[in-house]
Amino acid sequence: MQPAYQILKTTFGYNEFRHNQADIIQSLLDGQDAFTLMPTGGGKSLCYQIPALVRDGVGVVISPLIALMQDQVNALRQLGIQTAFLNSTLDQASQQQIEQSLLDGALDLIYIAPERLMTERMLSLLDQTRVALFAIDEAHCVSQWGHDFRKEYQQLSILHERYPNVPRIALTATADRRTRAEIITQLNLQQATVFLNSFDRPNIHYAVSEGQNAKEQLWRFIQREHPQDAGIIYCLSRKKTESIARWLAGKGRLALPYHAGLPSEVRQRHQERFLREEGVIIVATIAFGMGIDKPDVRFVAHLNLPKSIEAYYQETGRAGRDGEPANAWMAYGLQDVITLRQMMQEGDANEQFKRIALQKLEAMLGLCELISCRRQALLAYFDETLAAPCGNCDNCTRPPQTWDGSVAAQKALSTVYRTNQRFGVNYIIDVLVGKDDERIRKNRHDQISTYGIGDEHTGVEWRSIFRQLIAQGYLSVDVDGYGALKLTEKCRPLLRGEQRLELRKMARPEKIKKEKRAQKQQELRTIDTPLFEALRALRLSLAQEQGVPPYVIFHDTTLAEMARTRPATPDAMRYISGVGEQKLKHYGRQFLQEIAKYPLPELLDNHLSDTINETLALHQQGKDAEAIAQQRGLKPATIYVHLAEAVAAGCLSARDALPLDDAQYAEIVNAIELLGTEEDGSLKSLYEALDEQYDYGVLRCLLAGCQINP
Ligand SMILES: [Zn+2]
Repeated sequence: MQPAYQILKTTFGYNEFRHNQADIIQSLLDGQDAFTLMPTGGGKSLCYQIPALVRDGVGVVISPLIALMQDQVNALRQLGIQTAFLNSTLDQASQQQIEQSLLDGALDLIYIAPERLMTERMLSLLDQTRVALFAIDEAHCVSQWGHDFRKEYQQLSILHERYPNVPRIALTATADRRTRAEIITQLNLQQATVFLNSFDRPNIHYAVSEGQNAKEQLWRFIQREHPQDAGIIYCLSRKKTESIARWLAGKGRLALPYHAGLPSEVRQRHQERFLREEGVIIVATIAFGMGIDKPDVRFVAHLNLPKSIEAYYQETGRAGRDGEPANAWMAYGLQDVITLRQMMQEGDANEQFKRIALQKLEAMLGLCELISCRRQALLAYFDETLAAPCGNCDNCTRPPQTWDGSVAAQKALSTVYRTNQRFGVNYIIDVLVGKDDERIRKNRHDQISTYGIGDEHTGVEWRSIFRQLIAQGYLSVDVDGYGALKLTEKCRPLLRGEQRLELRKMARPEKIKKEKRAQKQQELRTIDTPLFEALRALRLSLAQEQGVPPYVIFHDTTLAEMARTRPATPDAMRYISGVGEQKLKHYGRQFLQEIAKYPLPELLDNHLSDTINETLALHQQGKDAEAIAQQRGLKPATIYVHLAEAVAAGCLSARDALPLDDAQYAEIVNAIELLGTEEDGSLKSLYEALDEQYDYGVLRCLLAGCQINP
């Protein structure tokens, strides 16, 4: 393992392995097969890259992501690793050149598309090459039940037969139990050691809201939490991706559509801009994203319901791969439920396929309608137990209100029954609220007993009730009957009054607080922001010079650490996570020069906590306690405590910190001396002795000043 640790530090710039990377690498180094399930952003690729470098020969990586191979190869070359790829985008000459370097043993790693690997030409080339290992990336593509199914993946078992002595590793970031079993069987991995990592992505905040005015909600969310961040928005239809992208562009955001119907050069260009520029929003169908390893995607939004929890997990997993806070946001409504139910039932797929697809959709709906912790439910779906609610999902931070919807449900269900189960949601709601409508009169539905019986709820509220009834399986949607609602077996006890039904109350948008934003700002101190921005600008210009995405040079987390610790020498730079030898050699000097331009102000060169320094930095800008409190969203009393600590530490004089004139200052200092407050520390008696005219915070600061300068 020693060489593996050496490579981790000098080539990749990291000090330690994460999750079970070390065990996985060890088993490949021992010549064992491995099957690895690791969440996105968990450092999957290191698991095969390092053993490929340690072992003799070339590591062969099988990946379906042709469009991304160039970037993957570029990123590895930045680290000084000899890497190439072979796929249909290369011309004849380059292919031959790469084949030759393969034969010469000049490559550490080679990325190959599965269809290319399966050709006899490629296999016989490999016969003459020393292969260190095979890595089968995105292994869930082998599953015919999954949404990323690739036929060629099922033929990869040939590797085991043809190269029995070469260790193989299959990797995926998403696979439920069924898919895991399929991967093992199809790829002949029965002898492999299985490494299951937690699916948890603790830095992602999950939220699902109701689909009323979804577009407006989306805009408020983006404005509030991600005014400058890169993100992905998923929609169901191609047309919608284009209209949403245009709409966002009209609001001043750089937003680009991406779907399978666009010409491939447009798709390519949009993907490149997303990767290479800062703050781009991609509006996409599910065609976008597999293998996108942009680490700083700060949000993934769904304007439609995904078809399964796996899809939801995988799509939202593209957010926050760098481990920094990120948001998974979704709005979904009644129409989503109806449309997806219909899509599943229509289609040409066989019955078994439809049944499984429907089960998966049910599970997804369950997650949306949940009133308890979403992360617990999400992980439970992948057979994982999270002991306590996570505290980082909407249901945890703003527990939903519920109400007894039994009576409303009875009214809704009996209206469906009394109109002979022939009508869709909108019509049923019109009957319930007693709308004056010709069609209703013609059908004589203004005569039935439930006409107008539901006017205590608005139409919007009824839609929410119906959504929950359909989602929970009390009503089904008839495909052939133009979306007519039908009662299911499940609703009998409800109709007979034998069962109660808890429904979610509709959330009020104004309740949403700024909680996430505050958390994000904590990561970087105000004082470090200008340097951080300067480092990002430097990174972008270097990236543009070389035609690579900025994060290939350094991740945001690496830049943030530089901004915070301000290394002054190449040696100090080595301690920053993400700075390996090759990058230090190429970029160290330029980044050190930039850092040197931003020395830390003397006032902040201390051992006080970050939050106190944050207050000090604002104080230095001439702001008083009130203004600082307002800007930081804290109470003025807290700010005075910070100032008092800074005074006590000798960083600040009480005189300068407080808005007092000489007379006031003298009055308080005299009172402190008279009462002996320095010894007994009683602010209360001081406060009273001064006729309650000074704030406790002011007194606290002055007292701190007297205590260090008696
Ligand atoms: Zn939670």
